[in-house]
Amino acid sequence: MMLANYHTHTVRCKHAVGSEREYIEAAIANGFKILGFSDHTPWPYPEGVTSGIRMGMDEIPDYTETLVKLREEYKDRIQILIGYEVEYFPKYFDKLMKELRKYPLDYIIQGQHHVPDEVDGFYVGTKTDSEERLEAYVNLTIEGMKTGLYTYLAHPDLINFTGDDDVYRRHMSKICEAAVDLNIPLEVNVYGFIDNRWYPKDRFFKLAKEYNPRFVVGCDAHNPNVIRQPEGHPGLAEFLGRNGIEYGDNVVNIVSPK
Ligand SMILES: [Zn+2]
Ligand SMILES: [Zn+2]
Repeated sequence: MMLANYHTHTVRCKHAVGSEREYIEAAIANGFKILGFSDHTPWPYPEGVTSGIRMGMDEIPDYTETLVKLREEYKDRIQILIGYEVEYFPKYFDKLMKELRKYPLDYIIQGQHHVPDEVDGFYVGTKTDSEERLEAYVNLTIEGMKTGLYTYLAHPDLINFTGDDDVYRRHMSKICEAAVDLNIPLEVNVYGFIDNRWYPKDRFFKLAKEYNPRFVVGCDAHNPNVIRQPEGHPGLAEFLGRNGIEYGDNVVNIVSPK
């Protein structure tokens, strides 16, 4: 049984619904003992650049204060962790981390949505058969993993590569090797699964299993009703089973990014 979920959003990212309290209540009702919030991080972008898929830098205090209060209120029923889903964007990363560290912060997970960043780069979920893009995604992802600041890698197979399987395997295997070498769990993304997205797919997890990294199941909840045990989502337990993904109690070692 899964006791932990570390991938939870809030309305601040502009594409999630429900209050923090509803996410917490859903976690308790479904048997979780640890609930980590990891909303899409804001970024200290240049003047005039705003993102439509994340909170603003000015929302950090409200996000953390809200969670600190709830953490205290619920402490006898569930452990609440305060985190962010953070891309590795080299141009802005150090400046961001300096800001995030000024507030309560338990962990960050890596979700590499753009390469090399959201301002100047490409969205990795756009279909592509470009080996160059695939390689750039893999290299930047591994560079991020090597910072040692991330607790795990969210949706490692977010890159929507439509080219040859051989090419896919040659590059994506490097992420699997890095996950083993650096001892960073790879996430099976529940939201992508139930939303019928291009991830998570057998193609990646069959490959990953050959390297035997640590796996973690992440709800990636943008809606409280996504916080369920795998059996609560049709087809998910079967997906995990046929790919040999063992997640145990789903509790991972939290890396402090402080
Ligand atoms: Zn999201
Ligand atoms: Zn997410």
